[in-house]
Amino acid sequence: MSQTYKGSCFCGAVQIEVTGDPLGMGYCHCASCRSWSAGPVNAFTLWPEGATRW
Ligand SMILES: [Zn+2]
Repeated sequence: MSQTYKGSCFCGAVQIEVTGDPLGMGYCHCASCRSWSAGPVNAFTLWPEGATRW
């Protein structure tokens, strides 16, 4: 069964939708991810090309 996940930016002007299963997901706390996410840890998912719609 194909799952669809929907999200948006804080104000809702940009909407995103992904369908299917992610290629990968995880948590990282390296210096680059901490800087990029402005937090102690970065949670992420990686999706195949064509699975996302803006
Ligand atoms: Zn990292």
